[in-house]
Amino acid sequence: MITPIRMCINCRNRFEQNKLIRLQCIENKLYNYSYTGRSFYICKECSIVPITLKKIDKLCGKNKNNNTTRDVFLKIIEEINS
Ligand SMILES: [Zn+2]
Repeated sequence: MITPIRMCINCRNRFEQNKLIRLQCIENKLYNYSYTGRSFYICKECSIVPITLKKIDKLCGKNKNNNTTRDVFLKIIEEINS
């Protein structure tokens, strides 16, 4: 089986899908990918770079609570690294 190649939204490098972190935005809120809907990928290196969060913010659009995206993002990263 061939592993699909996907692009990181931050560095735009291509990686095997299973090496990337898959996220999605639903109604301007960030979530861990839930197997439906549109999604995007970030690589492990970019997950620790602050600018990635800005890109995600832009992708998700305006959020009433500015801290939400950051909190969700950090939680997802924490779970992946634990
Ligand atoms: Zn990247």
